[in-house]
Amino acid sequence: MGLVTVETVNVCPFCGGVLELVEDESSVWFGCRRCMRYVKRDKREVVKRHVDYREKRFNWSGMMAELYQLYVKT
Ligand SMILES: [Zn+2]
Repeated sequence: MGLVTVETVNVCPFCGGVLELVEDESSVWFGCRRCMRYVKRDKREVVKRHVDYREKRFNWSGMMAELYQLYVKT
């Protein structure tokens, strides 16, 4: 199984470390490696909510904002 890990511009509010986005076949994970805290979202659900098919645009920053809010609240 291939995992794709991307460092984000967001910083962990708990330890100040860089937050990362990890993608596997069906999900995206967002969180902090140092704290070992991650939130998980179904990839199809995320895409459905943040892709504008008419404009053929993916709202990356919208997705990141949603994941960050989820992380902070969890
Ligand atoms: Zn952290």
